[in-house]
Amino acid sequence: KRKSHPEVQNLIDGIFKGDITSLSRSITLVESTHKNHLKKANAIIKACLPKANNSIRIGITGVPGVGKSTFIEVFGKYLTSLGKKVAVLAVDPSSSLTKGSILGDKTRMEALVKDKNAFIRPSASGESLGGVARKTRETIILCEAAGFDTIIIETVGVGQSEIAVSSMVDFFLLLKLAGAGDELQGIKRGIIEMADAIVINKADGDNIKRAKLAKVEFDRALHLYPEKESSWQPKVLTCSALHHEGIEDIWDIISEYKNLTVTNNHWTSKRNHQNKYWLIQTIENQLKENFFNSDKIKKELKLQIKLIEEQKTTPFAAAEHLLSL
Ligand code: GDP
Repeated sequence: KRKSHPEVQNLIDGIFKGDITSLSRSITLVESTHKNHLKKANAIIKACLPKANNSIRIGITGVPGVGKSTFIEVFGKYLTSLGKKVAVLAVDPSSSLTKGSILGDKTRMEALVKDKNAFIRPSASGESLGGVARKTRETIILCEAAGFDTIIIETVGVGQSEIAVSSMVDFFLLLKLAGAGDELQGIKRGIIEMADAIVINKADGDNIKRAKLAKVEFDRALHLYPEKESSWQPKVLTCSALHHEGIEDIWDIISEYKNLTVTNNHWTSKRNHQNKYWLIQTIENQLKENFFNSDKIKKELKLQIKLIEEQKTTPFAAAEHLLSL
C-alpha cells in the first residue's frame, strides 16, 4: 500500500478528529486550480469517502433580501442546540461577476460563526457554475467526514444555481416573501417543482395576514402538481426568522421527510441518482471544454461559420464535420 504524502495524511487525520483548521485547509486545496493542490485534494477526498454520507443535506434558496442569512443563522443555532453539527456552504455562481462572494458571508451570521458546532464556508468564487458545483460537492464530503451531520447549502434564487443545488441535496427548501406579487404567476414552475417545502418568511407584524394568505395560495398551487417520485407532498409553512418563530416546525417537517424517504427507499435512490447525474455532467463539461479549447477546432469552427453564412453548408453538416475531427 502506497503511503500518502505526510501533509495529506496530517490533513486526513485532522479531518477525522473534527479539526476545523484541517478541514478548512483541505477545502482550500479542493478549491485550488493548481495541479499539485488538486492531486492532494483528490487523495483527501478519497480517504474521506468511506466516512461521508452520514448527514442530511438541505438546500436553501430565495431571492436576495428574503432573509436567507437571518434564517440560516437562527435555524443553525436551533440545530446545534439539539446537539447537531452544522456546516453551511454557499453556491454562488454570480460571484465571478460581483467579485467576491455575497453568500455565506461570515459577518452575516455572527452568532453561528461563534458556535463551536457550526462551520461556515463562503462560496468558491470566480468560476463557472460547474466548477463551483464540483467544489461544493467535494466540500460536502469533507464536512461529513469531519463529523458534520447537517449540511446546509445556500444559494440565491436566480435560476441555474438552484438546479445545481437541488441536485446535491436531500431536501430543498424555498424561502419566499408574502405579497411579493409572484404567488401565482411569477413562481417559476421548475423551482416550485423542486421544492420539498416552501417557507414564507417575515410572517410577523403587519405581514402576518398576507403571509397566511400566501400560504393558502401556495398550498393550492402545489396541489396542482403531480405526486412526486418520493411520494412526499411538499409543505408550505410560514416563519419569522427575525423573531425566531416557526423554526422548530420546519425542522420537524424535514425530519418527517427523512423518515418517509428512508422508509420508502427514495433517500438512497435519490443520492445514487445524483451521483450518476454529476458523473454525466462532469463528463459532458469536460468533453465540451476539451473540444472547444482545441486549436484545430477553434480554427475550423471559424471557417465553418463563414461557410454557413455564405450558405455553402448547413449547421448540421458543419457540426458533423467538426465532430469528426
Ligand atoms: P438574504 O439576502 O436573503 O440573506 O436576507 P437577509 O437575511 O440579509 O435579510 C434581509 C433583511 O430582511 C434584513 O434586514 C433582515 O433583518 C430582514 N429579515 C430577515 N428575516 C426577517 C423576518 O423574519 N422578519 C422581518 N420583519 N425581517 C426579516
